[in-house]
Amino acid sequence: MASTKEVIEIINAIASKIEENKMYLTELDASIGDGDHGLNMSKGFAAVREALSKGDSKDAGDVFKKTGMALVSHVGGASGPLYGTAFMKAAVVVNGKENINIEDFVNILKAAIDGVKLRGKAELGEKTMLDALIPAYEAAVKAKEKGKDYKEVLSDASKAAEEGAVKTEKIIATKGRASYLGERSIGHRDPGAASALIIINEIYDFLK
Ligand code: ADP
Ligand code: MG
Repeated sequence: MASTKEVIEIINAIASKIEENKMYLTELDASIGDGDHGLNMSKGFAAVREALSKGDSKDAGDVFKKTGMALVSHVGGASGPLYGTAFMKAAVVVNGKENINIEDFVNILKAAIDGVKLRGKAELGEKTMLDALIPAYEAAVKAKEKGKDYKEVLSDASKAAEEGAVKTEKIIATKGRASYLGERSIGHRDPGAASALIIINEIYDFLK
């Protein structure tokens, strides 16, 4: 499905998409948080781009590890350690692999979710990035079980992430800054769910 070089290209493509959506993510965060999610993500992925540009990545695991470390060390907001942990946990499941397949993708998503849960102590339905990531993972597992090919698996994951992100507009935030708003957080999409959707979407877009 993707070589180490392609994994780097995908992450760079994600960095570009994040940059394009910087204002959008910041506006979402301005409604229910402190208005820095776009800035945080853009800063973080610029550091990722820089870290990966050195061309010394040994394998896919190494790429994910560098990505996670750059995010943790360059993003001040909650999303940095959360996404950083997600990528570092993902690194472990593809450690030493030069090529990754759809099975690896599903395992990566699972490890990333477990990392976010471990770090942020949130579950599905708390209006966080997990509300895009968990449905994406569940849809991917289902599609794989049905014997769908990798493009269909990614497409289903992407659709489920979108539905999950849309659902965050209807629920109360119980984790993160947005939880201070209580009921007033209803009616707004969670910025982290929006950025998670951008990431999943870009993986599908690149590989389809
Ligand atoms: P901060 O909240 O520190 O300003 P960001 O604005 O960059 O950081 O990121 C906010 C996003 O982080 C939220 O929209 C939410 O998706 C995610 N988030 C916050 N807390 C948690 C948590 N405990 N678990 C999972 N995701 C979280
Ligand atoms: Mg914020």
